[in-house]
Amino acid sequence: MNFHELKQEEVETRLQTSIQRGLTTEEAERRNREHGSNELTGEKLPSAWLVFIRQFKDFMVLVLIAATVISALMGEYIDSAAIFAIIIINGLLGFLQERKAEKSLQALKELSAPQSLVLRDGEWKKIQSAEIVAGDIVKFSAGDRIGADVRLLETINLEIEESAMTGESVPVEKHAAPLREETPALADMKNMAFMGTLATRGNGTGVVTAIGMKTAMGNIASMLQDAQRAETPLQRRLEQLGKILIAAALFLTMLVVVIGLAQGHELYTMLLTGVSLAVAAIPEGLPAIVTVALSLGVQRMIKQKAIVRQLAAVETLGCTTVICSDKTGTMTQNQMTVTDVWSSGKHWRISGKGYEPKGKFFEDTEEISPASEKSLYQLLTFGLLCNHAELKRKENEFVIQGDPTEGALLTAALKAGLSREQLLETFTIEQEFPFDSKRKMMTIVVKDAHGQRFAVTKGAPDVLLNKSDYILWNEKKQLFSNPYRKQTEDILQVLAGRALRVIAVAYKPLQNTSKVADAAEVEAGLTFIGMEGMIDPPRSEVKQAIAECRQAGIRTIMITGDHKETAAAIAGDLGLSGKKSDILDGQMLSQMTEKDLEEAAEHTAVYARVSPEDKLKIVKALQKNGHIVAMTGDGVNDAPAIKAADIGIAMGITGTDVAKEASSLILANDHFATIKAAVEEGRNIYENIRKFIRYLLASNVGEILVMLFAMVLGMPLPLVPIQILWVNLVTDGLPALALGLDKAEEDVMKRPPRHPKEGVFARGLAWKIVSRGFLIGTATLIAFIIAYQQHPENLVYAQTVAFATLVTAQLIHVFDCRSERSVLARNPFGNMYLIAAVVSSFLLMVAVIYIPELQTIFHTVPLAKREWLLVFGIGAIPTFLLAGSFFARKRR
Ligand code: ATP
Repeated sequence: MNFHELKQEEVETRLQTSIQRGLTTEEAERRNREHGSNELTGEKLPSAWLVFIRQFKDFMVLVLIAATVISALMGEYIDSAAIFAIIIINGLLGFLQERKAEKSLQALKELSAPQSLVLRDGEWKKIQSAEIVAGDIVKFSAGDRIGADVRLLETINLEIEESAMTGESVPVEKHAAPLREETPALADMKNMAFMGTLATRGNGTGVVTAIGMKTAMGNIASMLQDAQRAETPLQRRLEQLGKILIAAALFLTMLVVVIGLAQGHELYTMLLTGVSLAVAAIPEGLPAIVTVALSLGVQRMIKQKAIVRQLAAVETLGCTTVICSDKTGTMTQNQMTVTDVWSSGKHWRISGKGYEPKGKFFEDTEEISPASEKSLYQLLTFGLLCNHAELKRKENEFVIQGDPTEGALLTAALKAGLSREQLLETFTIEQEFPFDSKRKMMTIVVKDAHGQRFAVTKGAPDVLLNKSDYILWNEKKQLFSNPYRKQTEDILQVLAGRALRVIAVAYKPLQNTSKVADAAEVEAGLTFIGMEGMIDPPRSEVKQAIAECRQAGIRTIMITGDHKETAAAIAGDLGLSGKKSDILDGQMLSQMTEKDLEEAAEHTAVYARVSPEDKLKIVKALQKNGHIVAMTGDGVNDAPAIKAADIGIAMGITGTDVAKEASSLILANDHFATIKAAVEEGRNIYENIRKFIRYLLASNVGEILVMLFAMVLGMPLPLVPIQILWVNLVTDGLPALALGLDKAEEDVMKRPPRHPKEGVFARGLAWKIVSRGFLIGTATLIAFIIAYQQHPENLVYAQTVAFATLVTAQLIHVFDCRSERSVLARNPFGNMYLIAAVVSSFLLMVAVIYIPELQTIFHTVPLAKREWLLVFGIGAIPTFLLAGSFFARKRR
């Protein structure tokens, strides 16, 4: 289609849309139904069948299949069929777990999918980019990824980086005028923006000409994203560990088999025992449960509004030692209200709350009419002209569309009775240099009714103070020399010291009529007019969250583009150090060497007036000092720092696509407290993984030891192979999963962060596994010996007692795994999933013992009440011994 050649009206007609009002919602839905979603058909979920088949590729399953064949060849068809059934059940469980993990990861991907701003029913709305249809009017600005192919309608300094399409990484300047060439190369289509490319500067609006596979990007098949799934460090470590355990298990198994054979046991029995023990010892199921635990944890994080983009981040979150957070909007509400205005040495106050355009003006305590104060009126007028924000009423509440800082200036002007529409009848805006965090200013070039041209600049007061040579004092332009300058600086200190964000306004008359080439040309030699100070109250939960982080050994650092004094005042309110020596600003930063910064980074609590580039320096300095750094950001220029941080955090609402793509975590609500919640959840997930590793491995150790001890003592086999398989593959699985869903221990945010290099078995886990395994194995053996001595003629009976004791001991021990300290440290009913899992695992065992058909398969006999007493009594010993030793230690 030759959209690039058409005039705007022609594009509008061709695509049957309205540039003013966009499509209606119904029409957009109809087009979506007709043409499908705006998606590149990329990687699909592997089919269910494939995932099921995948379950049978494990080493363990191969061992089991060998066992099935051996038993069949020996004529033991029941054993053979039972093992086969266990293989299938195990495969099914693995399949269900993997599907669950897969699905939640997919849901996650969708949550963090890009969004676009579209005009529907005359209103700008944010929607999932996948819902864009041809004919939609879309708007984007620096940092946004373009959601579909777009013919541009309006651009302001728009530059787009098209390397994804053309390989050219230098951004291309775009404009909205029709092109004449018939079929220019993609790179020359200056009035088109393409799906998947990135706006790096300015902003633009356009109409969507193609979606999904019909876009230029859709044509380039190789552009389909490479969706390799990265494993988390823990998963990798577990895989390595798995190999070591396989070796150890095979060695132990061989030992049991050799001793067994030497003791005169049958070859077939010993072979099958060997296989079962090998299966018991190899924690093949672990990686799968770890993935499930990670992905379920990720789901819980979503509920807390933290969207994890990389699974590895879940682990790193738990190791975080420093959180560097933006101030505005993350720690504060981003609900800006102008309370103070200063110009020509006069100081006015404005009443009113939030963005409601209702308030009065006061000089000292006396109410004044703003229209009668010329300097005030001019300041408010320019603040309104150099401004894109719009005020909307939503269910009795006034909300701002656009930048909240500009929203505050808009509201203040409305309170004085000004209106943008009226102003635009007198003033024509000819050019604009949008705000960016580096310049900290925004400038427009305006022509008034007399044809007089001038520039209006608004921005950070300290920056404007430097750029101004004159000041407007009682409507007269004066040289901005000392008494004036001192007075201005003093009042700035006062306002900023009250935690107000201050915006200064200045102007510059332009003599000639030529177009201004760049911002620097007009943003110098300015005439200072005055300042507006706005409050942005801290979010209520931030102070508490910072305090909790401190208890958890995590330092919080505030990073802001705002003025030093403003930042210090808010930091003080939030319980961060507001001490002078703990605050650095961009200028001080620029004079520091890397070494200086590393030193200062250890105690600096606030970085003020920093540009996004400085954030990268801060991250690097902290990392050099051994910190695990979480860093927030939203703009295009924040991306390098977000990428470099151990946990890069992007804002879900105000964040640009570039920031989101660089991040590993997105805050759906932009709140600081969400970071704390995510860290807490990250710690909890890791602890839960440790819990079930401990449970599964201790159970395995118990199973191996009971067999090994019996062999060494020259006794009969306490468990038959099929029982070992059953315990290991069926009864252990559910409780382990339930441990993965456990709530955090009360003190999880009172401990220092975990070291990222910490091994899986750190903090005494290896000892716990071996000692608990030893106790469980010994208890089972004791139960077996007692039962066997009572009825030496009835081995099946003694084996059933051993089987029941082993399962019971494990199911009691699982409660001990919930705490790093002791089984007594936690309420056993605190995790209802675990109760349900334990009850069902127990019932499964009871079924195996009492259902006659299963008795033949599992070599069991029914047990009487007295035997159950034995089973419970001995099964509980390991855990009670541990509880007792905890008590004894506590008393000492
Ligand atoms: P934080 O870093 O705490 O999140 P921020 O992101 O709002 O703050 P910037 O957006 O970099 O910080 O703003 C830096 C400074 O630029 C502000 O302190 C303010 O003085 C000025 N400023 C902010 N928004 C605008 C705007 N729309 N027009 C002109 N100046 C602005």
